[in-house]
Amino acid sequence: MKKIAVFTSGGDAPGMNAAIRAVVRSAIANQLEVYGIYSGYTGMIEGHISQLNLRDMANIIQRGGTILKTGRSQDFLKPEFRKKAVDNLKNLGIEGVVCIGGDGSFRGAHQLYLEHKLPIVGIPGTIDNDIWGTDNTIGFDTAVNTALDSIDKIRDTAASHDRLFIVEVMGRNSGMIASYVGLAGGAEEIFTPDFPITVDKVVEKIKSAQQKGKTSSILITAEGQKPGRAYDLAEQLRKKSNMDAKVCILGHTQRGGSPTAADRILASRLGAAAVDMLLQGKTDIMIGTQGANLVFLPFEEAVNKTKNSPKDYLNLASVLSN
Ligand code: ADP
Repeated sequence: MKKIAVFTSGGDAPGMNAAIRAVVRSAIANQLEVYGIYSGYTGMIEGHISQLNLRDMANIIQRGGTILKTGRSQDFLKPEFRKKAVDNLKNLGIEGVVCIGGDGSFRGAHQLYLEHKLPIVGIPGTIDNDIWGTDNTIGFDTAVNTALDSIDKIRDTAASHDRLFIVEVMGRNSGMIASYVGLAGGAEEIFTPDFPITVDKVVEKIKSAQQKGKTSSILITAEGQKPGRAYDLAEQLRKKSNMDAKVCILGHTQRGGSPTAADRILASRLGAAAVDMLLQGKTDIMIGTQGANLVFLPFEEAVNKTKNSPKDYLNLASVLSN
């Protein structure tokens, strides 16, 4: 193998740049030429691909977003466009590819392997941490800390005014950010898509807390299928028990910012491992971590199994907020 390419795809996540840097620099250390594909699968289809060198990677380890841009491509769902994408890679002599993205991006990568036998490995990069087979995805730790910082600030005003707040964090299909932020932020209750709790239960909990002298509370909710779910909850609380809950939707602030040390380290390890895997002839796999170890598993397993919210975190948060 002489030439490889790297791209970022789907939702951006802090730490993607650190992963690109690790791929490029470890590839060059292994005498490979490296190419960057811009804007995800769109750039692969349109041939927006150029060589990256060591100095292109200067000063990016600390930057959020992705210097390669990212994107979503409807065209890529069609085999004829995937063929065009692979032809572009072949024309440049690219023999292996590193895909940094979420489960959608890995589904696309798996198709490239199935249809064209393209050597391709994946690095999980998404703030949602919703990918099976790895403890963490790149960007999750940063997103959790960004959300936590906001919740700590909200707590100041909630306590000063004796208020109830509902804070909505990201996670359309995943309660991972909500669970971590809820436990770390001392939330009363946490609403996740996979372990639903009833509004009645929450009302009961808040009333009992009030009887014990608690004057302010914070509820955390994952956005669920549509952002704005926090407003529905506030409305239900008002209707059921006349509680006046203030709503704060953290939204895209959770996607940006400088990656935490944990995300930079994860990105650096996974980036270097991805190059190793390609050099060893491994393909159609995702690289992740379990405990202290680097692990790899087939894309098919990573995208078809579901990672649930940590139920023990939800239970613990509920007990500790009494
Ligand atoms: P993420 O990688 O963050 O989960 P998306 O789900 O938006 O983001 O997926 C990114 C891109 O991956 C999509 O825009 C599409 O081009 C490609 N993709 C997703 N699912 C498939 C699939 N089943 N087959 C081929 N390509 C796919």
